[in-house]
Amino acid sequence: MSNRREFLKGAASAAAGIVFTGCSLLKAAQQSGAPRRRQVVVGGQRVKTIDVHAHCAIPAAAKLVNRDVTGQDAPLEDRLKAMDAEGIDMQALSINPFWYDEADRDVATKLIQMQNEGLAALCAAHPDRFVAFASVALQFPDLAAEQLEEGVKKLGLRGAAIAGHVNGDELSNPKFNPFWAKAEELGVLIFMHPLQFGNPTGIRELDRRFAGNGRLNNVIGNPLETTIFFSHLMFDGTLDRYPGLKICGAHGGGYLPSYVDRSDHGCLLGPGCNPWPLKKRPSEYFREQLYADSLIFTPEALRHLVAVCGASHIMIGTDYPFPWTTTPVDHVLSTPGLSDADKRAILGGNAAKLLRIAT
Ligand SMILES: [Zn+2]
Repeated sequence: MSNRREFLKGAASAAAGIVFTGCSLLKAAQQSGAPRRRQVVVGGQRVKTIDVHAHCAIPAAAKLVNRDVTGQDAPLEDRLKAMDAEGIDMQALSINPFWYDEADRDVATKLIQMQNEGLAALCAAHPDRFVAFASVALQFPDLAAEQLEEGVKKLGLRGAAIAGHVNGDELSNPKFNPFWAKAEELGVLIFMHPLQFGNPTGIRELDRRFAGNGRLNNVIGNPLETTIFFSHLMFDGTLDRYPGLKICGAHGGGYLPSYVDRSDHGCLLGPGCNPWPLKKRPSEYFREQLYADSLIFTPEALRHLVAVCGASHIMIGTDYPFPWTTTPVDHVLSTPGLSDADKRAILGGNAAKLLRIAT
């Protein structure tokens, strides 16, 4: 064995070799045209782009209720590579489809703790690339309120991800008030992602009608669930009871923003709809308490979503790792009628404000 001086010399050479190899690899990657991080610039200003609809999973937690989460996640390297290629600087991670809805209180407590700590660890390891929404066990609304508070205050999570119902119960049911009150008190964004009809904890009478060709449980079922969810929060008074709530609906906020004039009109017709105590028309909630992601499929559809919600209420949503979109930034950039300020807001400015991300 060599003496200490020779050992150190050898170690230094080895380290130099590693650095040299690293540089060589980088140069080779650049020369071969391998994708690098796309930098998005609008009107001469670099925009920090933020995706609010990005799936991930903590497999060890899902195992507590025997759920296989294969396909819900992606290796970190693949995730970062996709983000770099698409020009996504940050993802706000969320875990669904809420496979813990039927867990008992002890299991739900442990499972959510594992998920939220796992999310926090991932965010801490890559603070420039990830923030996350807490998971909450909404079948126990008081516990969900505690989990949200702990997730935000102790773990640095930025809000919560929820489904559009819990075991078939509408979230406008007063039993969920402790959760809504806590979300309002903390001032955090709630990201609503449909549970998907066809899920074991879904609404079974509708599953029957979605059977057959066409993935109807997802293609129709997801935006329908979001539409029903938002409609109940409006018409049952939840949004009026908690005027500080901020809720973002996945997939362009479901069908409702495309058709909200009908809901406005329905309020005037009665019987069966009393416009009072509804404090606002349904369309007004989309300009105040409700938000939507950009996961709709044409520039014309996004133009209309902006016309309904305003550019300040829309954020990028990609659905990563599911292949619903691969050009989320260009989708926004190619939407007609948007000012540079509108584009910067949708690409990342709105999410930065709502999720407390420094720009
Ligand atoms: Zn999704």
